[in-house]
This record gives sequence, C-alpha cells and structure tokens, in this order.
Amino acid sequence: MSTQAQQRIALVTGGSRGIGAAIARRLARDGFAVAINYASSAAEADALVRDIQQAGGRAAAVRADVSRAEDVRAMFGQVESELGRIDVLVNSAGILEIKPLAETSDELFERTFAINTRGTFNTLREAAARLADGGAIVNVSSTTVVLNLPGYSVYIASKAAVESLTQVFAKELRGRRITVNAVAPGPVATELFMKGKSAELIEHYAKMPPLERLGQPDDISGVVSFLAGPDAGWVNGQVLRANGGIA
Ligand code: NAP
Repeated sequence: MSTQAQQRIALVTGGSRGIGAAIARRLARDGFAVAINYASSAAEADALVRDIQQAGGRAAAVRADVSRAEDVRAMFGQVESELGRIDVLVNSAGILEIKPLAETSDELFERTFAINTRGTFNTLREAAARLADGGAIVNVSSTTVVLNLPGYSVYIASKAAVESLTQVFAKELRGRRITVNAVAPGPVATELFMKGKSAELIEHYAKMPPLERLGQPDDISGVVSFLAGPDAGWVNGQVLRANGGIA
C-alpha cells in the first residue's frame, strides 16, 4: 500500500453512476485517491465516496457540470486542494438520446455536444496545464462510432469528435510523458443504455456481439485500469474498442 505522499490521484467525470462509478471503484482498488465528479447525483456520489473510504481508500465527491468551463476549472481546483495534483483524468460523463436526425431538436443537438464533446474539451484544456507529468487521460467514446446505427447520428458525431480530440491531444502533450487514449464501449447494462428500450430490443443488442451478452460496467473499468496504469505506458493516442467483438 502506497503512502499518502506517493499516492496517485484520479479524477473521474460522471463518476456517480454507471460505467464511471465502476471506474472510480476500480481505480480506488488499484490504489488511487479518487475524485468522483457528478452533475446532479449527489447522493450516489457521496455513497460511493463512503464505500471507498470504508474499504480504506481516499475519495472525494465534486460537483461540476462538465459542459461549463468555469465549473471544470473550479472542479480541478477543488480536487487539488482536497486530494492533491491530478495524475489521471477519466472522461466518462455523457448522455445519449436516440432520435432520427430529422427529428432532433436544436436543444438536443446542443445538449449532446455540450456534455459529450465540450465536456471532454473543457477537462482536456484544463488538464493541459494541471495534470502531473507522467499521467494518463482516458476518454470514453462509443463503439456506435463504427456501427453507424440509425437514430444515433448526433450522439455518434459527438463521440467521433471525442476520438479526434484524443488523437490530436496525445500529440500535443509531447514531452510531458502523459498518455491520451480512448475506450469505446459496446452496449453496457447501465441506465443510459437500458432507458426506453423494450426487453426484446435489449435482448437483440445482447445477441449482437459474438460473445452474446451485454457488457457490464466492470468490463470497461478493467480496460480503463489498464490504460491508466503502468502496463499501458507505451499505448498512446489509441481508441480501444471494448465491445464483445460487435465491431
Ligand atoms: P449513465 O449510467 O447514464 O451515467 C452517466 C454519468 O454521467 C452520471 O454519473 C452522470 O452524473 C454523469 N453526467 C451526465 N451529465 C453530466 C454533466 N453535464 N456533468 C457531469 N456529469 C454528468 O451512463 P453510462 O452508461 O455509465 O455512460 C458513461 C459513458 O459511457 C458515457 O460517456 C457514454 O456515452 C459512454 N458509453 C456508454 C455505453 C453504454 O452502453 N452504457 C456504451 C458506449 C459508451 P449525474 O447523474 O450526476 O448527472
């Protein structure tokens, strides 16, 4: 067990629920002090902090709407003062609303890009100055980017942009020994995926990958643990599609 002085610090956006919560738990088990960002799910974030602390770890909940640059700036400041300098940033905050392009409102287009794309941009820009040298960044994209499913146009576009930011930012951090990668999950059994789908449709998605099951949040947290850890030190600017072989 590392001492507090040597302990690495991770910030997980959208860490209150779903995949982000599994990532926060896993990084805490890996020995990180973990900052758990949320926008509205304070009770879930606080409960997760308590769980991690009861297991002997260090954690703090931090509220910020990632689509707002001033919130993100304040979030980095709060994490630095409560836990210390950030080594690992994981961008898991995201939303999905399925709608044919022709029926997509201006508001839905803007909200999707504000949270999924601008939210990632905001934390990356802040991380450029504030992440510790030798750190790691993991952005959460989506395998829908290569599936091109009807109804997902705006969501896919917002995540394709995240993959582009990942690849360019990895090069812009030359000299800092910071890796920047993305994980692109296939269908994972969280509220984001389940919401509004019939049992038949969920079963249809579950049968799509050759592994014939939905992903679970820990299928993704293990990949993030790898990308944030020492074994992935030479993996940089990549998109790892963790999806049961769906694409
Ligand atoms: P989820 O269960 O709905 O959780 C979403 C998380 O994002 C929550 O913690 C939520 O916090 C946070 N969030 C939403 N808007 C936010 C904002 N403006 N600022 C800060 N946090 C915000 O979703 P999930 O399935 O875990 O998805 C996590 C990531 O994986 C997303 O980027 C998603 O696009 C991606 N993904 C998911 C799947 C899947 O099948 N589940 C597949 C591919 C990719 P609050 O509740 O506090 O708002």
